[in-house]
Amino acid sequence: MRLLLVEDEVEIQGFVKQSLIDAGWEVQAVDDATSALQEVTKQTFDGLIVDLGLPDLDGIDLLLRLRRSGISAPVLILSARRSVDERVKGLELGGDDYLTKPFAAVELVARMRSLLRRSSRGEESSHLRIDDLELDAVKRRATQNGHLLNLTPQEFLLLEYLCRNAGRVVTRSMLLAEVWGMQFQPDTNMVDVHVYRLRGKIDPEGAESRIKTLRGVGYVFQRK
Ligand code: CA
Repeated sequence: MRLLLVEDEVEIQGFVKQSLIDAGWEVQAVDDATSALQEVTKQTFDGLIVDLGLPDLDGIDLLLRLRRSGISAPVLILSARRSVDERVKGLELGGDDYLTKPFAAVELVARMRSLLRRSSRGEESSHLRIDDLELDAVKRRATQNGHLLNLTPQEFLLLEYLCRNAGRVVTRSMLLAEVWGMQFQPDTNMVDVHVYRLRGKIDPEGAESRIKTLRGVGYVFQRK
């Protein structure tokens, strides 16, 4: 697997590059968008890691140009920008995941691994339909009975994972690994809180939830 890293800060570039190499990937690192656009014409990359604050072009514009030129490899966005708007914009314009600086090497590697795994499953699985729900994994849009659901990026990923595994038990650690890219079980109720919010958005008022809790185990998404 070959990855392209676009990051202008020397220290971060070195740290990220080494972390990815240690994880077993081949890494090409460049400092700006112009070099990135040149690199992608020379070789094929399985995944990209793009910093938003680049010296020559905004990372968002780079992302847009990459997608327009037909590069479909998954992109992990790196940014110091914490605003939700920037995050959403980045994801809408073709980023596949988002990591805010500072981050731990282990999280970077886990997210990248998850992105690569998802993209290797192929195009045919980008559209999902379960009962009244329809998901577009590329655009990260979910609709219910044709109405757009207002989901956060994490809620979308959670719903996507639950739907892909509909009828099967998914544990909290599976969700943490696949949705949040965490290989360890932090001492939080993050998963439960997100499931609770997701239920509020997809379950009709007063109806029994389709996301069943299996106490001490995890969840099952039940088809109607
Ligand atoms: Ca930067």
